[in-house]
Amino acid sequence: MHLTIGWLYPKLMSTYGDRGNVICLERRCQWRNLDVSVLPLDQNTDVKTFQEFDLIVGGGAQDRQQEIVMRDLQGKKAEIMKEKINQGIPGVFTCGSPQLLGKYYEPAMGQKIEGLGILDLVTKHPGQNVPRCIGNVAFDIVPSILANDLEEMFGESPTVVGFENHGGRTYLGDVSPLGKVVKGYGNNGEDGFEGAFYQNAVATYAHGPLLPKNPFLADWLIIKAIEQKYHQKITLIPLDDTLANKGRKAMLKKILA
Ligand code: GLN
Repeated sequence: MHLTIGWLYPKLMSTYGDRGNVICLERRCQWRNLDVSVLPLDQNTDVKTFQEFDLIVGGGAQDRQQEIVMRDLQGKKAEIMKEKINQGIPGVFTCGSPQLLGKYYEPAMGQKIEGLGILDLVTKHPGQNVPRCIGNVAFDIVPSILANDLEEMFGESPTVVGFENHGGRTYLGDVSPLGKVVKGYGNNGEDGFEGAFYQNAVATYAHGPLLPKNPFLADWLIIKAIEQKYHQKITLIPLDDTLANKGRKAMLKKILA
């Protein structure tokens, strides 16, 4: 078995440390002796190669970089992304990335950026004078399909922790939220929702990075990638996540205090 992790625009979309999600997925595969490779997807990637991912990761970015990325993604690359996500190829998209997967993003300055329209959501930046949403965030998983999988795999659907830092406010249309905020701003600081969940795509404002802090989500993504590619249900060999779990619980205690 071999998995290819596609990494969206590593140079332009690595401002917020979400590269840790790529490392986490890669290592958790290697520790199980699953063959894995990381494929950067950027301006130098031809259309044929752009299709070769089994799992995709997109990190946060600043407004200016998001605009460059969107220009490059228009056309065939956008179609590929849409088709693969619609098919159920799993992915984790953080902050600037979900903004691009939505219908549009209105940045603090400059022109509205048209999104890929894969997720039914819109994002608006209220302007540079309005405070950004910054701080630790905790949320409970909303989609029952994901919560049930996690319960089956780990005996519970744990509360997710992360760190958010965004100016844009996201409003969901006809798409499920990923989480219900326990602490923090979430999508917009108003409706109590965090992120979005569509097919096997996890979209979130939680940096941290998300997956090393919440490794159960990394394993869920790996399992889904294998299911999609090999049409086979598998159980992953459990790893010793004692430290990560302790860290998550300590963080929860701190932010809920
Ligand atoms: N530029 C976007 C915003 O400020 C995304 C930020 C991010 O990816 N952390 O909303």
